[in-house]
Order: sequence, then C-alpha cells, then structure tokens
Amino acid sequence: MSNPLLETHLLPPFSRIKPEHAVPAVDELLARNRERIAALTADPERNDWSLVAELEQLNDELAQAWSPVSHLNGVMNSDAWREAYNACLPKLSEYWTELGQHQGLFKAFESLAQSDAYPQLSKSRKKVIDNALRDFRLSGIALPEAQQKRYAELQQRLSELTTRFSENVLDATQGWWKQVDDEAELAGLPDHAVAAAKEAAKVKELEGWVITLDFPAYYAVMAFADSRSLREELYRAYSTRASDQGPKAGEWDNSAVMQEILDLRHELAQLLGFDTYADYSLATKMAQSPQQVVTFLEDLATETRPIAERELAELQAFAQERDGIEELMAWDVTYYGEKLKQARYDISQQELRPYFPLPKVLDGMFTIAGRLFDLDVEEQSSFDSWHDDARLFALKRNGEPFAYCYLDPFARSGKRGGAWMDDCRVRRRLSDSQLQLPVAYLVCNFTPPLPGQPALLTHDEVTTLFHEFGHGLHHMLTQMEEADISGINGVAWDAVELPSQFMENWCWEPEALALISGHHEAGEPLPQSLLDKMLAAKHFQSAMMMLRQLEFSLFDFRLHHEYQPGKTDIQALLNRVRDQVSVIRPPAENRFQHSFSHIFAGGYAAGYYSYKWAEVLSADAFSRFEEEGIFNAETGAAFRQEILEQGGSGDPMDLFVAFRGREPSVDALLRHSGIR
Ligand SMILES: [Zn+2]
Repeated sequence: MSNPLLETHLLPPFSRIKPEHAVPAVDELLARNRERIAALTADPERNDWSLVAELEQLNDELAQAWSPVSHLNGVMNSDAWREAYNACLPKLSEYWTELGQHQGLFKAFESLAQSDAYPQLSKSRKKVIDNALRDFRLSGIALPEAQQKRYAELQQRLSELTTRFSENVLDATQGWWKQVDDEAELAGLPDHAVAAAKEAAKVKELEGWVITLDFPAYYAVMAFADSRSLREELYRAYSTRASDQGPKAGEWDNSAVMQEILDLRHELAQLLGFDTYADYSLATKMAQSPQQVVTFLEDLATETRPIAERELAELQAFAQERDGIEELMAWDVTYYGEKLKQARYDISQQELRPYFPLPKVLDGMFTIAGRLFDLDVEEQSSFDSWHDDARLFALKRNGEPFAYCYLDPFARSGKRGGAWMDDCRVRRRLSDSQLQLPVAYLVCNFTPPLPGQPALLTHDEVTTLFHEFGHGLHHMLTQMEEADISGINGVAWDAVELPSQFMENWCWEPEALALISGHHEAGEPLPQSLLDKMLAAKHFQSAMMMLRQLEFSLFDFRLHHEYQPGKTDIQALLNRVRDQVSVIRPPAENRFQHSFSHIFAGGYAAGYYSYKWAEVLSADAFSRFEEEGIFNAETGAAFRQEILEQGGSGDPMDLFVAFRGREPSVDALLRHSGIR
C-alpha cells in the first residue's frame, strides 16, 4: 500500500492525502527515525557534521509528512481529520521529548563542538550545533543524576499546576452568569450580542437573557451597555475570577497555585544555573539581560504616561459632559472610549471594503514585495489542491522559482478561525546539486465574495494579509541551507514578529495604498479624506493602550526577576507596577493576575514583553525606509539580506544592527503611535 504522506515531492499531493494515512505514516517514520538514531549514536567516536545532516534529513522527512496533516486538520477539519491528528500528537510529543533527553545525541553534539572540525564549520552550521547544545542544557540533560531527577519532578509538577491554573480560570469563567428579565437592561448592546444572550439563556433553560463571562459577551457589555450598574457588576465578576475576591470568592482560587508555580520556576532556573526565571527565559531570546528588558519597558512607560494622562482627562471630560459622570471608573473606560471614538471618527471598516477588492490587494502586495525585495510573483494555474479556494504562487528571481506560497483566503465551515502562516517545506540543502525550496501556507478567514463580485476586504483584513505575508517572506526568502535555522526556524521568540509587523506598515502609506486599493466598481484609489480619518482613528487612545501592555509586561517580568520564595507578595508587586505606570487605578479587589493565563499557563512567562519588543524592532526597521524612501530598492535589499535571508543563523541583535546601523530605538514606535 502506498502512503502519499511518505512521498517526498516539492508540493504535497493533497488530493490523495486522506485522514487514514496519518497514523501509519507517523508510526512508520517514528520507528525508522528511532532505529536510525540508535545506529547513528552507537559509535561514540562519530562526531562529524554528517551526523547532524543525517539527523536533519530524518526529522525533515517527518516534518514533510506531518505538515499536510496539521494543515488539513486546520483548514478541512472533520471528525476523521481531528481523530487522526489527535492520535498523532502524543506520539510526536513523546518523540521530541525523547530526542531532547537523548544522552547519545547530546554527547555527539558536545564532542563535535569540542572537535577540531568545529572551528572550520560555517557560521550557520556552528549556530545549529550551539542551539542544539543550548536546548539540551535547558532540558536538564547535562545535570548530575540526582538533579536530573529533581528537574523531571519540577517539570511534572509545573505541568500539573499550569493545567490547574487554566482549569480554575475556565471553571470560574463558566461558574458565574447573570440572568436578565428585562430587555431594557441590555440597552446599547449590538443586536448580535443580545441574540447571543438570548441563546445563552436557552442553553441554560432559563427565561429572558443570560450574560456570561465569556470574553465576547463580557466585552460587549463593557463596550456598549448603557447601564452603568450592569457594567460594574460584570466588571467585578470578571476581574475577580479564580481568586479570593468577588461574587465567587474562594471558589477556584488560584492564589496558592500561582505561589507554587513561581516557587518551582525559581527552583528550576537555579537548578539550571540561572539566578532567576527571567534569566532562564532570556537564554533563548533576543533581549540580552533582565536589566535591558526592565529599562526598555520603563523608558516606554515614562514617555507614554503624560500622553495617556491627557487621553484619560479627555475621556473624563467627555463622560462628564455626555452623562454627568463625576469620576470615571474602571467599568466606564471602554464604554466611553467607544462613544468618543464614534463621535470623533465616524469611520467603519464596512465603508472601506469597496476600496479593497482582493485581486487588487494581492496584486499591489506582490508589486510592493517585488520592488523591495527584487522578486516576481506568478500565480500557478494548475496544482494539486485541497479546496477550490486555495491558490498557489511561485516567487521568482531572474525567471527562476525560489519558493512557493499557498493562499487559502476565505472563511468556511470546517476551517479554523484566525489567520496564520505555516511552513509546508523548509529550504535546505539536499546534496551538492540539489536544494529543497521553501513552501509556505498563508491562511486567512476573509468574507467570501458575493456572486459576480470580487471578495472585498476591510482595512483590518488587508493588514492581516500583509502581516502573514511578512512571516511568509521570512520563511521563503531565507538563504540558509540547514533546516534548524532556515526561514523562521531558530528565530528568537521576541524577534519572530519583526518581518510580519514590518510589512503591516505599507498598509498605512499613501504611496502603497495607491497600489493596493481601487474601488471595485469605479476603480479610484482610497480617497485622502478616508485615509486621514483612518490614521487619526489608528492613534486613538494609543497611549492608554500602550500603558496597559506595559503594565502587564512589567508585572510579568519583574515578578519572574525579583521573585523570592516565601517573601514576594504578588499583589504588592502588581500594585507597585501600577503606581509606576498605570493611569487607571482598578478597584482594590481587582485580581487580574489570577486569570493571567499567558504567563501562568502559557508560554509567555518572563516573555510577555516580547509583544512590545517586536513592535519596536519593526517600527524602527521601517523608519529606515521612511528616511530613505519607502520603495528604496537599496534599503529593501539591505533588509532582505541582513534580516530575511538570515533566518535564525545569527544573533538577532547582530542582524538588526547590521541592517539598522545601530541598536533598536523606541523613537519610531512612539512616533507611529502618535505618542511623540
Ligand atoms: Zn504574527
């Protein structure tokens, strides 16, 4: 029986791939890889590059089989695909854990790094080895046996605790709701929110309407409910979830869970030789020291705060004048923010749609990329696909294709929401004469076209497309030939959003808008008056928004940097951060931290700052284009060569400096946000 997932083509044979192929392919490749890795490491003397290359080959074949499975599960979901995908996941995760803990491989890499061959290797090959050794050490493999055992216990317990944290947040979110008998109480809510509340009541077999703490329901009330007391009630329930405060105080309380997570993280970091968990987190990131991160965040806050105070005063005055609100409370801010925004910029995304037909946007986007990065994009008319909506583009230079890119643009049932870029094939050297070309998937969920019309995008959707295409360019323009550092592989977490956010900038430039916009009937580009309004709305309350992100980032980072078991009071630390950066003081009972899943249950511990960090990089990189011309081909070539082509081969700070001529500065971000 032939299994299409085991064939290695440039492009996967999608029409022949069925859910029942997934488990056999993964089983076969895992068994083969285990056997070959055992053979590879059987000879303790073997420590040359060919061992690394063979390991890369084995894992790339696995990646090539897995990529279509994961992709089809995301875009053509069905019970059968979900079942196949879920059956493979634990097998893969077991395999990767095994590799991370493989003493034989660790010894081979270590011995290669110390051999005479190492200094002769190219910069990129050295980086592959250094990364592997770093990751081996971070997985505790180099520790003495007793400490290795403790490391495993800590990981095990942390995984239980973080799961527990999420469960408490989920239970607390579902454990409170409000039944409303009188529709008048819901005044101000958009129709879809009222309908959702009606539906929620039906599900609970209750009369009237039910408002839950699910984010869309909660947010609709905070942004639109005219009833101040309803907003207050929801706010108090939401902001005290999973804590010792609020209407469900003590049920699902995360206080002890958080304390233990922080204790164990601290111990784990020290076990691996770091002073704090923040130092441990930075070992794989672009930022070089905790002090650098804290200074970065504090400087941004100092500069932003006076503007945010002005924005708040403006909002306070507006609320006073409109509704006689004497003191703006935490549950008033979003509501009056919405009202003020409407009063000032009556601009709706719907109004912009006719100016952004998808064919025009794509054409313009490819023209922009072509001018900047010296490439042509050519649509492929026939290819093996998973759905009629999917399209395939070849990226060419001098008539030669060097990468391929799928685009699956429209929402449909069975397709996961949101937008993303994923890699289908990574660029790597197969032999002296053969190169594997990179292939990317761009997936979006735009509104499908009406009959007889092109699909019309909102400006937000256009920005999303540019963002994902930016990730795609990082993946496709790489010149690296080793899979582990090719494209977005091996790029530090806090630097990976640089190319994506960078590309978004073109969606706001008149010269670029002329290329990507054109009324789908009349053909004229976006009028200046609409563009002006868009730009003004873009800056609306941007300082307040920035401070909120800085509050979360500083709290997360200082918590993991200053934490001392048995001494640190989490609430007191949060209060100190708020004293320093916040303009809106939440009520004392607010327990935001008890549902801060990013850092207590997700991968963002001592890493939440990455959002702002990457924004600074992308804004600052773009500012060189503002100085030298946004279509300056030399500047484009420099960005391509110093950043996009390099993938994960260099230290991201070095790459940035090579492009920008200096370390990143916050000036451009502050200017782009209208703060400076
Ligand atoms: Zn992104």
